[in-house]
Amino acid sequence: MDILERIGDTIVSVSKDVSQKAKDASGIAKLRLDIKSKENFIREQYLEIGKLYYEKHKGEDVEEQVQFDRIDEALEAIEEMQQQILVLKGARKCPDCGAQAADTAEYCSVCGAKLSIVVEDLPYEEVKEDIGDLGVTEEEKEDC
Ligand SMILES: [Zn+2]
Repeated sequence: MDILERIGDTIVSVSKDVSQKAKDASGIAKLRLDIKSKENFIREQYLEIGKLYYEKHKGEDVEEQVQFDRIDEALEAIEEMQQQILVLKGARKCPDCGAQAADTAEYCSVCGAKLSIVVEDLPYEEVKEDIGDLGVTEEEKEDC
């Protein structure tokens, strides 16, 4: 074989290798993306199963008590933060039905439940109770 022919053959086979390798690389990249996508899909299904399991067994004695407690705590924290948002927005949540109520409302407009005293009112209520404990009314004080 002539030296030039051999060089020519080598160049052809190298360039075939390069284009095949590029095809393989893009095939691998595509397969990796497909695997990632399937893994994400499986993760979503796991989450869904976990949520269904939690909702089905909450309040029961379960082996996964630690995780159940963590979820309960997180849900309570969310509830508190949502309450804080309502307070910041100048509204509260009805303790009975969960409806949003104006900060000044005494009764829930949806279920009619009496709404708890606004936090700012509490010190005044405590002061009134303290006076009551002394057993002296305003009238008696005036008599003295
Ligand atoms: Zn209500």
